[in-house]
Amino acid sequence: MKIIFKYSFKKEREQIDWFKKNQLEEPVNLVLPEGKVRRAPRENIKKKLKSIGQKWRKIEKEFFGAVRRKKLNLENNYVCYLSHYGSSGFYQSPNKLIIRIADKKDLTESNINIAHELVHLILSKNKKETNLSYIKREKLVDDFLVQRKFRKILPEYKKQKF
Ligand SMILES: [Zn+2]
Repeated sequence: MKIIFKYSFKKEREQIDWFKKNQLEEPVNLVLPEGKVRRAPRENIKKKLKSIGQKWRKIEKEFFGAVRRKKLNLENNYVCYLSHYGSSGFYQSPNKLIIRIADKKDLTESNINIAHELVHLILSKNKKETNLSYIKREKLVDDFLVQRKFRKILPEYKKQKF
């Protein structure tokens, strides 16, 4: 099990359209740097893909191992897209996650955001999120990630405030 990191301008556009359409339904933070959509410099993206990927690899094995020990089903691979827009993280079942890379904080917190969206995907695959409200789904993910075995892997994870 692993995460494959990607960047796609098309995916980024798709995500922006989704947020525009849905922002009345969910409390999302729509960040549009400079107020418009533009293609990021290639070199910049390559560097971010590399550093975010390397950082995640340091905890990946342990993370998936801890999930497997909880007898939860996983996909074989997950694809994580980087995006300059939208909320800090986003997921699309069964195996896609999107992580925002708009500012320094997003980069510092990439593992937190990846783990968060990944847990959404895992819980929804295992039917733990079915029919829950937005806030209940968020609380479920927080409770999952503050369990002792995940605390050890990702000590910087903090519960969200609602
Ligand atoms: Zn969430």
